[in-house]
Amino acid sequence: MAAKRVNPIDINKDEFRDIGHRLIDDIADFLDTIDKRPVTAGQSPSKLQSILGSGNLPEKGSPAGELLARATDLLLNNSLFNGHPKFMGYITASAAPIGALADLLAATVNPNVGAHILSPMATEIEKQTISWLAEFIGVSPNYGGILVSGGNMANFTAFLAARTAMAPKNVKEDGLSAASKPLRVYCSKTTHTWIDKAAILFGLGTNAVRWIKTDSLNRMDNTALEQAIEEDLDNGCQPIMVIGTAGDVSTGVVDDLQGISVLCKRYQLWFHIDGAYGVPAAVIPTYKSLFTGLDEADSIALDPHKWLYSPLEAGCTLVKDPQHLLDTYSSHPEYYNFTTTEEEIAQNYYEYGLQNSRGFRALKIWLSLQHIGRAGYEKLIGEDIDLAKRLFELADDHPELEAVSNNLSITTLRYVPSDKKTDLTYLNSLNQQLLNTLQTGGEAFLSNAIVREMYCLRACIVNFRTSESDIREIIDIIVRVGRETNITLRNENKN
Ligand SMILES: *Cc1c(COP(=O)(O)O)cnc(C)c1O
Repeated sequence: MAAKRVNPIDINKDEFRDIGHRLIDDIADFLDTIDKRPVTAGQSPSKLQSILGSGNLPEKGSPAGELLARATDLLLNNSLFNGHPKFMGYITASAAPIGALADLLAATVNPNVGAHILSPMATEIEKQTISWLAEFIGVSPNYGGILVSGGNMANFTAFLAARTAMAPKNVKEDGLSAASKPLRVYCSKTTHTWIDKAAILFGLGTNAVRWIKTDSLNRMDNTALEQAIEEDLDNGCQPIMVIGTAGDVSTGVVDDLQGISVLCKRYQLWFHIDGAYGVPAAVIPTYKSLFTGLDEADSIALDPHKWLYSPLEAGCTLVKDPQHLLDTYSSHPEYYNFTTTEEEIAQNYYEYGLQNSRGFRALKIWLSLQHIGRAGYEKLIGEDIDLAKRLFELADDHPELEAVSNNLSITTLRYVPSDKKTDLTYLNSLNQQLLNTLQTGGEAFLSNAIVREMYCLRACIVNFRTSESDIREIIDIIVRVGRETNITLRNENKN
């Protein structure tokens, strides 16, 4: 029998077991004590570089156990922990622990989920995950789709499908320059920055995006939307799609989706919904009506790495008629022997999106959906919403805080010292400095939003570890740091 090849990459069974057990022990201890650690050590880039060291690329290899021990130490002592109960910045969730184990298993099997033949069970698991996600948010099980890296990619994937479906039929062959009319897309002015990237990437140009003003509830103003469409038609442009937002990134507002869908039908436009953050809240029966019109969408973007608590990265594009994805992305090069000859058709995910080789990101979502269950998610998401409300109420009750907005699980507020209540410029720089201090202090982590020209602190709770006591403590922290910042600023202004 031939001897096994000696190589510097393999790790023998006993060593793998030892290193693996040590890593799992460290992770278990870390997760168990995450609430007792600082949210972040807040080090500067140069400090981090000095901790990391600046050695050259290693010429020779090192023992895996030592390397993993060092990596564990570096990461567990010098990271920002979005799993900390007092992390509520941007829209970054605490990750479900089962996701970490899922990624280990996924990397071990290492299926290439671009083609069924290369990932037989993994492809079927991704298909099931997609159909469970459609069921989760309450749209028809006929929606199909694909998992991608996040919200941006989910929106891009849908955007190009919309362009293919709505632009002149020769767009795939001749490109946009052959189109006789300039294409136009419509979205609320609160839409996430992905739309600019999509307009650039897919050749429409950023001037093709019509940013529609918002109404008094900060939803897209559908009257202004219709006017813009009419105007563009009069000017010889070709409207192709409207983007509704289900949970805007700043304040969590959900557009009037039903109203948008009516306009899309009237003008025969593609209706896309960016639900990257908010759409999982549709799992809660009392919130379902907020999302009326969701099942009219031609495409929906959602982000399991936000409110489904999946570890990064995980986004999802759902399309009402998945044939649009095939029409956009499918090709059959001679070097792929993926066509099935039996009666059964195997689904090859490379034909459904931009990626070719694809990792097994479905596993962590598939396992979470089963570990937590629909009812478990309903409870977690509902509690996140209640905690954001509680933060709003406590801010509202506090004489030095102003509660500004509360939608879904996002609350905005600001620190307002009693003698500076009307000085917008002062309050804006005060709250900006307050936030800077908070973000590096390690006690709690919030982000910011500009609401009606006010610089606000913004808490977005997509965090199953946050409890009511964290919310009360965060109020105390904000007030304490607010007072200190106020004193510093006044002294600076005097000098
Ligand atoms: C987060 C978010 C995005 C971007 O998603 P990524 O996962 O960060 O790429 C897009 N749209 C909305 C509404 C979001 O909340």
